Amino acid sequence: MTTIQRVKDDSLQQALDYVNTVFKTVEERNPGEVEFHQATKHIFTALVPVFAKHPKYMKNGILERISEPERLLTFRVPWLDDSGNVQVNRGFRVQFNSSIGPYKGGTRFHPTVNASIIKFLGFEQIFKNALTGQPIGGGKGGADFNPKGKSNNEIMRFCQSYMTELSNYIGPNVDIPAGDIGVGAREIGYMFGQYKRMRGSYEPGVLTGKDVRFGGSLVRPEATGYGLIYFVDDMMQDHGLSFNNSKVIVSGAGNVAIYAMEKAMELGAKVVACSDSTGYIHDEKGVNLETIKRLKLEEDGVISAYLAEHPHASFHENGDDIWTIPCDIALPCATQNEIDADIARVLIKNGVKVVAEGSNMPSNQEAIDLFNESHILFGPAKAANAGGVAVSALEMAQNSMKLSWSFEKVDAKLHEIMLNIYRNSISAAEEYGYPGNLDVGANIAGFLKVGDAMIREGVV
Ligand code: GLU
Repeated sequence: MTTIQRVKDDSLQQALDYVNTVFKTVEERNPGEVEFHQATKHIFTALVPVFAKHPKYMKNGILERISEPERLLTFRVPWLDDSGNVQVNRGFRVQFNSSIGPYKGGTRFHPTVNASIIKFLGFEQIFKNALTGQPIGGGKGGADFNPKGKSNNEIMRFCQSYMTELSNYIGPNVDIPAGDIGVGAREIGYMFGQYKRMRGSYEPGVLTGKDVRFGGSLVRPEATGYGLIYFVDDMMQDHGLSFNNSKVIVSGAGNVAIYAMEKAMELGAKVVACSDSTGYIHDEKGVNLETIKRLKLEEDGVISAYLAEHPHASFHENGDDIWTIPCDIALPCATQNEIDADIARVLIKNGVKVVAEGSNMPSNQEAIDLFNESHILFGPAKAANAGGVAVSALEMAQNSMKLSWSFEKVDAKLHEIMLNIYRNSISAAEEYGYPGNLDVGANIAGFLKVGDAMIREGVV
């Protein structure tokens, strides 16, 4: 950690000791949860200058409290597959922090889901949600269920079983789940139907990401991807750069990746590669988004099928190699830990100018350090991908007012929110001695709002 001016060395040392002590407790209390350790360590480190300048956070035990979930639910999700066999999965919901609003965060259905994954995502969500400027606390959920290859009926039965248990713990003023990897509008629809049946009352504000016919918001499907591009565009404008004529690589081919590609293309970028869990396609003429949308959003197909219509493109099985294609802008939009130090070095060597995170925690600490050292413009996930949850909060607002806003209105609000996140992160970084470091700035800006609320609400 570089020396911070304006702070006496002993207060800096005290802050470092505090952070290290609390982090040790986190490690001991959550053994083996590597992703959760990674996320907490990263944020704790960014907060050292805050504790050095304002010892009140240490005195009030904010870090000890914020890193321990208010509640962690795990539950059995039994369901019958199409052959009549009993299947059992493990469901989770972490209700991490409710100091600035009800718990809010997505739901991930993926075989890798475990307590560590849910807790890292939930912890990140606290700060991301605070950054949006909206009154939402941090939560996250999911199950180790693999939706791949499941029939529509199996998905429906799974969602119903998951919600049968979860409905005991959520509500429009308590905890509001949404989608994430493996959970889109279809799954949210099935969960909403089951919640409604369990409660016997129509409460659309209990879930976000719903279909527009029953309380969903326009722009919610596009929000994370569009928001990412608005954020990157604002950041680039500040440095005299733009998407126009730039070469872009986007990992993933889900909701976030698809709408990031769409908006980047609208702004004049050429997207030359994208990927799914089976590999990546490289199309130097520019990826045909209509084909990707049909394959991935409608047909649930594999990305290599792109070649049938665009034979000049190539398919490669090793997904990591997508980052070896030279580009101006790299947008990881697939999952956590996509970019390590080796990949970061390749991107830097190939002249990347901007890296911005559409997925949650795609770059590890070493990769981020390399980007900062090389003065690459870096947009950290909790700032750059906050557009999704921000529009979820707008969906909740519309639900409670029983009205729906136009596409243009929601899109304009999204753009404004992303610009505010960018500006607040920049000024927090500046104020705490890390000018231009959006990663440190976003963590600090998100933390200050939550930390101050926690002090005022007392030791709860
Ligand atoms: N899963 C998304 C995220 O990581 C969206 C959460 C939401 O809309 O509640 O922020």
